Amino acid sequence: MTSIGIIGSGFGAIGTAVELIEAGHDDVRLWERSESLGGVWRDNTYPGAGCDVPSPLYSFSFAVNRSWSRRYAKQPEIHSYLHRVAEEHDVARRIRFGTEVVAARWDEPSQTWEVGFADGGSESVDVLVSAVGQLSRPRLPAIEGIDDFAGEAFHSARWDHDVPLEGRRVAAIGIGASAIQYVPHLADEAAELTLFQRSANYILPKPDGPLPRWYQRGIEVERALWWLFGEQFSRGLDDGSRVGRINAAVARWHLRRQVRDPKLRERLTPDYPVGCKRILFSNDFYPTVTREHVHLTDDAVRRIVPEGVQTADGTVHEADVIVYGTGFDAQDFLSSIDVTGVGGEKLAARWTDGAHAHLGIYVPGFPNLFVSYGPNTNLGGGSIIYMLEAQAAHMRQVVDRMQVGGWSRVDVRPEVEARYDAQVQERLEHSVWGHCESWYRHPSGRITSNWPGATRPFARRVEQLDPEDFAWA
Ligand code: NAP
Repeated sequence: MTSIGIIGSGFGAIGTAVELIEAGHDDVRLWERSESLGGVWRDNTYPGAGCDVPSPLYSFSFAVNRSWSRRYAKQPEIHSYLHRVAEEHDVARRIRFGTEVVAARWDEPSQTWEVGFADGGSESVDVLVSAVGQLSRPRLPAIEGIDDFAGEAFHSARWDHDVPLEGRRVAAIGIGASAIQYVPHLADEAAELTLFQRSANYILPKPDGPLPRWYQRGIEVERALWWLFGEQFSRGLDDGSRVGRINAAVARWHLRRQVRDPKLRERLTPDYPVGCKRILFSNDFYPTVTREHVHLTDDAVRRIVPEGVQTADGTVHEADVIVYGTGFDAQDFLSSIDVTGVGGEKLAARWTDGAHAHLGIYVPGFPNLFVSYGPNTNLGGGSIIYMLEAQAAHMRQVVDRMQVGGWSRVDVRPEVEARYDAQVQERLEHSVWGHCESWYRHPSGRITSNWPGATRPFARRVEQLDPEDFAWA
């Protein structure tokens, strides 16, 4: 029986575990550094946290959720869905909590991965799956004086619910996908709210609303329709596409309709091609910005001072609380784990110019290591769960073949990985991301986060295992 260790307990980890367990691979164990499961859906508890992918689409195909209470479910509901799936599909009991993986070393003689934990313990497994995600490491900006602030400060993904906001002066630095969800809530509580926006966003209306109980069948129909919509939406991320132009026009219309003041509107108008940064969905962000006690600042943040935030023009914006909605270290992939492959090679060294992996999963020289939601699998439209499931099915085929063929070592051929990577990078050059700056891009210039285009071509590509792509031993 092949032993499989999975790092993490978010959507990627649970989806992969279910795929393997249901195919009869029973020695599946998951290691989770926290005390409960859920990945980003456990960590992001900020007010208003939810998914901007419509809920009918946002569930596993093997556990379609027909009971979402609204079209865009909030974090508690998504988190409890994940709990339910883990319980119902026999994953929950296999998770060891409070177990942070810090190292993994390929041991050639035994053809296993030696996995080391923060508490000094270790375990060996035949196959190691990393499902640590792309957005699990919150990033505080490198702003001078960040430790000098006299008030309370926290990152959006580590929301400190003990910090009172009622009647206080709040500074929100970073206005991205997370911030546009919590800013309206901050505004309801704070006496004064100052938003520090470095780049404006394209924001589309959100067709949100409650989904009544009797609508359960409708959810299935909507699932298919939203998937089709997502595929079309992804086309809007091709360079100069017609869908992109439509998205930009709808975003401009939405802004015009919700913000009457032309000066404010101008400051909320992005100056980069649509889709370059994630397109956002919100009905209440713009109206919040027009509230009297909410101030939009687009002057660059120069430094943090004990009293608040100083901008480039020298103004000190006084604050009692600073919320950093400044995103994640998305380029680091497995950097929190010291991964050592064949011949002592470090994965971090292999990826100094940015991560790349065959199908976003397999790295040559790192046998029996699979990466869920690895390089170039993030999406600008559609549901990431679809990608995770497609990857999991491929991994399962590899494990099946190992078991049936009696193979103990599987390593992707370097030329196969290089060819795949070249194709993906070439295709990315024709995407909107090829021509602008965003966190999708590694400092080397390579786009490592995103998959270019619709999700179906990816699924088609990973559907069938081609044994010739790998060296089996
Ligand atoms: P984000 O979208 O990357 O936004 C970070 C914000 O911080 C941006 O406005 C960025 O400005 C700003 N920023 C970063 N460093 C800064 C600095 N030094 N000074 C001033 N501003 C700075 O991060 P996020 O909102 O946490 O979202 C990250 C990702 O999580 C999303 O793209 C999405 O994939 C996922 N997410 C998804 C959902 C969902 O509903 N599905 C919700 C939340 C998050 P620039 O734009 O100028 O870089």
